[in-house]
Amino acid sequence: MGAGSFRFEVGEFGCVSASDGALNYPPESLFANVPPERVEEALRQRNLPTTQVTTPYTCLFVDTGEHRVLVDTGAGNLGAHAARIFPGIDHSTSVTGLLPENLRASGIEPSEIDTVIITHAHPDHVGGTLNEAGELVFSNAHYFISEEEWEFWNSEAATTKAQAIMVETARTNLEPLKDRLTLIGDSSEIVPGIHAIATFGHTPGHIALSIASGADRLLHVSDAVLYPIHLEHPEWTPVFDVFPQQASASKSRIFDLAAEEDALVFAHHFPPFPSLGHIRRREQGWRWLPLETQG
Ligand SMILES: [Zn+2]
Repeated sequence: MGAGSFRFEVGEFGCVSASDGALNYPPESLFANVPPERVEEALRQRNLPTTQVTTPYTCLFVDTGEHRVLVDTGAGNLGAHAARIFPGIDHSTSVTGLLPENLRASGIEPSEIDTVIITHAHPDHVGGTLNEAGELVFSNAHYFISEEEWEFWNSEAATTKAQAIMVETARTNLEPLKDRLTLIGDSSEIVPGIHAIATFGHTPGHIALSIASGADRLLHVSDAVLYPIHLEHPEWTPVFDVFPQQASASKSRIFDLAAEEDALVFAHHFPPFPSLGHIRRREQGWRWLPLETQG
């Protein structure tokens, strides 16, 4: 297995963290309501560059024994457009679309995946749905997305609440799924052992996932929070949250649960790869404790 895939178990379920790459963000897009000097200070304290934030794109594969499940399809060729989307920062490490090859590196053929769960329809989560020929990459899968998410991106409201490129990418990638799609709600069982947790706000129908086998549980928090610094400064919000207040309530719901249960957490954009760890409560907010995966 290469550096872009990491195998682990949740009870009887075989799981793989598979990297789709990473994209560099201007700090002010991730921490929009904060004076730049405070953001700079927070980044410097963590020995991170202060001019851009490298944000991993990590997808999750789960083999339940009965189903082969992929959560989100990656960003596709979004990385190739990074300089247009976020001009003026270093994009030498903005590379996306690695998911299919990193799945294959773990012995998983995209055509063998029977279930794809879409946590929300932002470009970095649905951009890998179609290949360059416009065909489905996960060609034999049935798809699941929340009813609220489906309705939002197909509504007029999306065009006023989200950037045109986001609306266009969502619609292009969602439309071909409509004949192989189930709309779900809060607590819906998607396949045995995997349930949706409504965590609306980042997008109007954003979901997290509970993935449970035996006594073990993995919480997939997707984009309930975009970067670990958002846990320590819960009031710092990204420009990408469609409904920031609702997102804030959802964040509390899912991270309080993670801390209380001491559950293993998978967070789509959290460094370091494989984006796995635990959540600890702090006086203010929470703290990300990455899983130690190397000796
Ligand atoms: Zn995302």
